[in-house]
Amino acid sequence: MKEALSKNCYPVVIAGAGPAGVSVALGLLEARIEVLLIDAAPDMGGQLPSIPSPITNFAGGYKVTGRTAGKDMKEALLAAAERAGEDGVSLTYLPNYQVAKFDARTNELQLKSTVQAKDLTVCGERVVFCTGYRERRLQLPGQAECEPAVYYHGKGEDGDTAVVIGGGDSALLKLLAVAPQMKNVILIHRNKHLKARPDVIAKVSNLPNLEVFLGSQVVALARNAQTGKITVDIETMDGGGRQTRQADWLAVKVGYLPNTEFLADSLLLEKGHVVVDSALHAFDKEERMLPTVFAGGDIVNGSFPRIATACGHGMSIAAEIIKATFENGSLPDGK
Ligand SMILES: Cc1cc2nc3c(=O)[nH]c(=O)nc-3n(C[C@H](O)[C@H](O)[C@H](O)COP(=O)(O)OP(=O)(O)OC[C@H]3O[C@@H](n4cnc5c(N)ncnc54)[C@H](O)[C@@H]3O)c2cc1C
Repeated sequence: MKEALSKNCYPVVIAGAGPAGVSVALGLLEARIEVLLIDAAPDMGGQLPSIPSPITNFAGGYKVTGRTAGKDMKEALLAAAERAGEDGVSLTYLPNYQVAKFDARTNELQLKSTVQAKDLTVCGERVVFCTGYRERRLQLPGQAECEPAVYYHGKGEDGDTAVVIGGGDSALLKLLAVAPQMKNVILIHRNKHLKARPDVIAKVSNLPNLEVFLGSQVVALARNAQTGKITVDIETMDGGGRQTRQADWLAVKVGYLPNTEFLADSLLLEKGHVVVDSALHAFDKEERMLPTVFAGGDIVNGSFPRIATACGHGMSIAAEIIKATFENGSLPDGK
């Protein structure tokens, strides 16, 4: 595997080294197609390292946590790169570079360093976007003065009372992780129903130290300078009433946004998601299908944001590129 550019234009450029992007790279390296893989983060895995629990809905991941799956994925890619390297085909992996702009007419990508290295421009005969999701942030009144006791990532496990905002997998998994060492855990969710996996909801329901506010939102925070406690103002969504709780820290886990802002000028998006055809080709702003531009994983419009979907998209995109690269559609060794 190479870690520096040896040229500016590559047969295939993949943006995003989560399960979707790595799956594209695995498929292409197996077919001995050279790849440039770019990621804004310092390491591969995308969202996988933030999944602390076994991935029960991923075939092959039943006993494996997201963290382990992320490491396995990286090892699989390094091994594939080594095999391809023996045949003179390389994987170039560029961490710490964020795609800042894409030109759909030239397939040119402008890359911004996330560690103050020099910015770069690269192009791909084919370009694949697999830039995934990021956590949605809240702008609560009083939030700034409560930092760092309000967080999106990190531990925050000291104290008696923890508040978690959200009703999906991330929120409930966070609750389950901290509940054993807390006197009280409080869950606040805007909807009347939780959206997490049934097994996770079942475990949360059994917590003895849990207080739940459904159909409610946090409307303001304030921090006591002496005690460090946060006052959390909670209001029902129908405006029916306001309650206050004291917390030592608060975790915000309120869903995800697609990382596609940099594509807004070049590709057709719907609610921030890339519109694709059945072969996962993207479209330009004039709704013309782009035969050399693909999108896969969480950022695809209408996709079910899961690891299996991302891997499936990745392999399907690889198959399309292989088909287009080798005219008869078969792999070089006739597989
Ligand atoms: C807490 C949690 C629990 C989950 N539990 C499950 C589960 O049980 N089962 C399941 O199937 N799924 C689960 N998921 C969802 C699963 O992790 C995602 O669906 C999957 O990771 C999506 O893969 P992806 O490759 O599309 O995107 P991601 O994994 O998000 O990877 C995208 C990559 O693109 C990079 N990137 C973003 N923007 C840019 C840019 N401009 N330029 C370059 N790189 C960029 C990011 O750094 C990232 O590495 C969970 C997610 C979380 C957070």
